[in-house]
Amino acid sequence: MNGPTTSKAKWAGDSPRSYNRTNVMKQVLKTPGIDRTTLSKATGLTNAAMTRIVQELIDAKLLKDVGQLQSDGRGRRRSGLAIEETGGYVLGISILAFNSRIVLSSITGEIIDSLPIEPTELSNVQQTLDEIAQMALSLLDKHKLDKTRVLGTGVAVAGYLNESGDVLDPSYNLGWPAFNLERSLEKRLNLNVVVDNVNRCIAVAESRLGSCVGVQEMVLIRAALGLGAAIITQGNILRGHANRAGQIGHIPINRDGLLCSCGAQGCLNTVASGWAILNQLGLSDKPSTGPGDLKTHKDKLKHVLEKSLAGDQNFQKVISKSGELLATHNLSLLHSLAPEIIVLTGPLGANTVYCDAFKATLIKGGVSSKVITNCDQNITASASAASALALETYVYSPSFDIQPLLPDVQVDVFQAETLIL
Ligand SMILES: [Zn+2]
Repeated sequence: MNGPTTSKAKWAGDSPRSYNRTNVMKQVLKTPGIDRTTLSKATGLTNAAMTRIVQELIDAKLLKDVGQLQSDGRGRRRSGLAIEETGGYVLGISILAFNSRIVLSSITGEIIDSLPIEPTELSNVQQTLDEIAQMALSLLDKHKLDKTRVLGTGVAVAGYLNESGDVLDPSYNLGWPAFNLERSLEKRLNLNVVVDNVNRCIAVAESRLGSCVGVQEMVLIRAALGLGAAIITQGNILRGHANRAGQIGHIPINRDGLLCSCGAQGCLNTVASGWAILNQLGLSDKPSTGPGDLKTHKDKLKHVLEKSLAGDQNFQKVISKSGELLATHNLSLLHSLAPEIIVLTGPLGANTVYCDAFKATLIKGGVSSKVITNCDQNITASASAASALALETYVYSPSFDIQPLLPDVQVDVFQAETLIL
């Protein structure tokens, strides 16, 4: 899991040894079956240090020997190492205006279980958090997991955190006020919790385990009822002043244009988003201002997208124009950043009409980046991205304290009666 980190990584208890241990785990995750000698070379550790670290990780049941998988080129076989998939687990929770979900993942990143979250009343924060916590705890119960091996929870939220990264700014999408989401969930789950904006979680997950592993320069656009983006530059998430980078939906393009959900007129959201498509088809005359509107708009957008794929030319024309405008009004940004890869995800990123218009306009505008959309391949879903955030923060991190996972150490004690002089 090399690549960008989020600002929420917690670095308590780090030391050269824990950095080395993290490097070993990352390398084994990236190269299952790797032998100890190759591992030493890849991490720059001496064989003695490597042996000690690997043994400790095997004792903690985080690594396992996987038999004689690799040849050393001279006919000898070396035993390989892999991450022990039962060695630990994390939860991933996506909290969006709709399609919220909770997943249980192993420390290899494999999704073990997944449940949709359907809050009784999303805008009632306390009740929604109680319901999410109850689901999370029953998911852990169902799998009868050793609690010491549940290593943390990641949350991907449809909102932004404040500058210090601990308080969720008011989210009109969810109808939630500003509050400390991380602490509120920690209190209910009795687990470490890390929270980040959903677009950033997906971008980081793609650069860890998805289609963009190792990519240092990337722009991810999520096109749903509203538009949002996450930017990875020089291998790190670009957070911007006050943690606000990536809000492309509010790029002003026409000051005499339609009213946007943010209160301004003529933002990009009013011409290139899912809501803009509904508006142009006469299906909505004002942008979504809360969960109620979002639910209605979501159902309408789903219908429009399905009809367009079934061949409705009127719908196709409007969708195509929106995809074109998304590209047109991001040309400056994309030329400025020159990303290696542009990822288009969200419901519109899964619509071929929107994606084709977006791609064609980028090419016409001289953008040479590779473009990946949900039409081409599965981009990491939001709850899986949240579990990747938890893995990065709590497992593949020097802050990971493995002591509770080690078996009781049998200390050799000198006993006077056995001492022979
Ligand atoms: Zn706006």
